[in-house]
Order: sequence, then structure tokens, then C-alpha cells
Amino acid sequence: MAKQEDIFKGVISHAKEYGYIFPSSEIYDGLSAVYDYAQNGVELKKNIREFWWKSMVQMHDNIVGLDSSILMHPTTWKASGHVDAFNDPLIDNKDSKRRYRADVLIEDYAEKLHQKAEKEIEKARIRFGEFFNEEEFVTTNPRVMEYKSKQKQIIERMAHSLETENLADVKALIEELEIACPESGSKNWTDVRQFNLMFGTKLGASAEGAMDLYLRPETAQGIFVNFLNVQKSGRMKIPFGIAQTGKAFRNEIVARQFIFRMREFEQMEMQFFVRPGEEMEHYNYWKEARLNWHLTLGLGKENYRFHDHEKLAHYANAATDIEFNFPFGFKELEGIHSRTDFDLKAHEKFSGKKLQYFDTEQNQSYTPYVVETSVGLDRLFLAVFSKSLKEETLEDGSTRTVLALPTVLAPIKVAVLPLIKRDGLPEIAHKIIADLKLDFNVVYDEKDAVGRRYRRQDALGTPFCVTVDHQTIEDNTVTIRHRDSMKQDRVAISDLYKIVNEEVSMTNWLKKLIK
Ligand code: ATP
Repeated sequence: MAKQEDIFKGVISHAKEYGYIFPSSEIYDGLSAVYDYAQNGVELKKNIREFWWKSMVQMHDNIVGLDSSILMHPTTWKASGHVDAFNDPLIDNKDSKRRYRADVLIEDYAEKLHQKAEKEIEKARIRFGEFFNEEEFVTTNPRVMEYKSKQKQIIERMAHSLETENLADVKALIEELEIACPESGSKNWTDVRQFNLMFGTKLGASAEGAMDLYLRPETAQGIFVNFLNVQKSGRMKIPFGIAQTGKAFRNEIVARQFIFRMREFEQMEMQFFVRPGEEMEHYNYWKEARLNWHLTLGLGKENYRFHDHEKLAHYANAATDIEFNFPFGFKELEGIHSRTDFDLKAHEKFSGKKLQYFDTEQNQSYTPYVVETSVGLDRLFLAVFSKSLKEETLEDGSTRTVLALPTVLAPIKVAVLPLIKRDGLPEIAHKIIADLKLDFNVVYDEKDAVGRRYRRQDALGTPFCVTVDHQTIEDNTVTIRHRDSMKQDRVAISDLYKIVNEEVSMTNWLKKLIK
């Protein structure tokens, strides 16, 4: 089995080789944690966004869209708490000069204890076979209990120190646990400092008159400040939602995981406004609905899990992450948060404008509560791309690389290949393309032997290859080859649209969401 690290490297190089993702400004040696989406990447990204958008906006009559600006009045970020509290604790290793997030160093240490406990449990499971009682073992085995209690103590102490801004204690904890720099192995640390993740910029021409602005670190605030505008102009009735996709910017301290953690990324967020007191019902609904949405993509149920937050942010009364099994382990893909009335109340206070809703059924005004679903488009891209990339061993012992993308998301749906470059076959291929391209992204390929062309389309993720041969001239039939099964069928050219559409149409994929 290939090591996790090698699999991840394979994903990154495949993304580059097949025109999905390039490092930004590569000719200048790139810019750290910033990436560009190439000719195929931009299509895959657009398709993911569209699938999300349609399932949120088009399929819910009480959810509407919004496209708010990246630049917002700076008081927005004072009200939201980002100016004062959107910080990460950073620490430098004096020997390697490497910078780390102090909380991540501690969490990684705690995760190792968790893994040790899991290893003991696994050993016992094998030893006791069918008589194994996990619950009993976990609550009685001294070693497992010690690992688990130490892990809990560490996380609790860190959370408390961060909450009370006791950064000296965060450093003390790193020293007590004897955490070493993963690069140099040294324990020679600087003090822990808070670092604000927002990118600053200026509005205005002259230095004196310029106004300090921020690039938005999340899209959500654009929704909150427009809450009443949308509600009134759309005559929306609670409960209702506002959905938005767009760029967000965070000056991340540590960003070494390809497009998982970038400094410029895209979010897809939906804020659902509800009656106070009814938020848990909606929170539970969206938790399940969002997981189902992910499962529809068919990447495997076992690759998702919930991580309910025990320690909640100051604005939340419930929160969970949908975690995905990335090539580097389970990590957050999407957050679902019950944000109470924190944001609307804060904007009301800072702006002096009322942001209340008049509920005609209850005959009273109130500040709605908010349930948010927030997913990173780039993380979703990485989830889909990395799980779809497979090395398969075929019956004849040869191997093939296939990017088994969910067909609805694939950048190119059909490749049309003339068997040879003459005898009128290219002309027929171009005619087929002219008909199909009104509905699908289609490419033409005549280079190399047809087997090699199939392999290239497999690696690109194209669900169908259509081959035009001499029989086509006689009876208007072609061979259609399916990417995943490699099955080939002889079909009439006039049936191609139907066969392809049945498999790739977004309508059919959206139908899977209806229970
Ligand atoms: P993390 O704990 O991984 O930093 P977060 O909890 O700060 O993430 P949220 O503020 O809840 O993230 O943002 C919602 C979603 O936006 C995340 O679930 C993730 O998919 C995405 N996201 C956040 N930060 C980044 C980033 N730097 N690069 C890419 N996607 C991101």
C-alpha cells in the first residue's frame, strides 16, 4: 500500500499534469498557499459550485442567493468580532526558524495519544475476537483510560488558556509536553503571540484620506448586513435562507496542505434565519441534509464523519464539522453552526439600524436566530479529486490511472475519437461534436493509438469516449466506452445524447437528493 504522503504527492502532481491546478505565479517560483485553477480545474470547480447552488437555491423555495462585495465597511469586522478575535496563536522554533500554530502543535500531540488508545483497542479486538466488548474495555483498561484522560486534560487546558488569553500557559504546556519542532527536533521555542488572520488594504487615493479596509475573511457577514434588504425586497417569511458563494481571504500562519488551506479561497455559505427557540430543529435538519448532499456524490460513506464541537465559539449554541477522509486523514470539510442572534444583534448595535423581523403569525418583532452551513469550495474540490484518483490493476495485469469523478462534475463529458485520421472519419467526429457541444463539454482527439487515447481520457476523468470507425460510415453507429467499467457498446449516433445525458445531467443528480 502506498504511504499517505505518497498518495497526496500523486494527487498534487496529477492535478498539475492534467490541467487542474497550478501553483500561482509559478514562473516567479509561486506564492505560498495560493493556487490557480487550470482549464479542467475551473470546470470541475464550476460544476461543484453549480451543484451546490442548485441544490440550495433552486431546490428550496425559501432560499435565495446573494453576491455581496469582497470589500465591506470596516465596522463590519469590528461588529463581527474579527478585528479583536480572529487570531491564531503562533510560535516560532528558534533553531529551524519555522513558524507553527501553537494550538495545532498541541492538538497533534493529543491526537497521538488518541491514536495510541485506538491501537490498544484494535489489539484487544483481535485478541478477544467476537467476545470483545469495546465499551467495557475502554472504561476499564488502565492504559486506554490513561491515554484518553491525558488527551482530554491537555485539550481542556489549552482551550481554557486560549479563552482567557493566557498565552504564557500555552507555551508552558508545549514545554511540559516536551513538544519538539517536527523539522529540527529542537525544543527551543519563542513565546506564543496572537496573530490576526485578516488581510488589510486601503481605500482612497491619498495617504491621509485613505480608509483602512479588510479583504473579507468569510462571506457570511455580507449576508448578515443584507438580511433586511433581502427579506423586504423578496418578501421573505421566516424561516428563510440566503446563500452565497465567493472568495474569502485569510493570512493563514501554516498553509502546507495544497488547496486544503489557502490564503485566498472560496466559500459556499448559507445562512438560515429562524424563530428564536426553533434553532435546534433547523440545526439538526441541516446537519443531516448537508451530509446527505455529500453522500450523493458517491465518494463512500466511510469517508465522512461528524465532529460535534464541545467547546463552542462565543456566538454559537451548537456546532459540528463534517469531516472528510483527505489523503492526510480526517479533517474539516464543512461547518454547520447555530449562531444564535449574535451577528444580527452586533450589527444592530454597531450600525444603530434595526435588523428585526416582524412575524405576522406571532404579531411581534424579534431578531432572528441563524443556522449556518459553510463549506470550502476548494476543500470540496480536493475531497472529490483525491478520492476519485485511482490506480487500478486490470485483468491482464496492466495498470491504469483513472480519475473516477462523479460524472455530473467531470469537466469534459465526452471525447470523440476517430479511429484513424483519414477516410472521412475526422469529419464525422466533428459533426458529432457539433451536435453534442450545445449540451455538454466535448473534446476531439486524434493523436496516438486509440487505446492510449482512452487511457488519457481516463486520467482526465472523462466519463465517455466515442470512437468513430469505418462501420460508422456504413450504418451511423459508433462505439461508446464507459470510463469506470471500460465497457464498450455499439450504439446509433442519434442515441448518443440520450445515453450521455442520462448519466451526467444535473437534473438526474439533483433527483437523488429528493427522498
Ligand atoms: P479550519 O479549522 O480548518 O481553519 P475554520 O473552522 O476556520 O477551518 P470556518 O471559518 O468554519 O473554517 O470556514 C468554513 C469553511 O471554509 C471550512 O469548513 C473550510 O471548508 C473552508 N475554509 C476555511 N479556511 C480555509 C482556507 N484557509 N482554505 C481553504 N478553505 C478554507
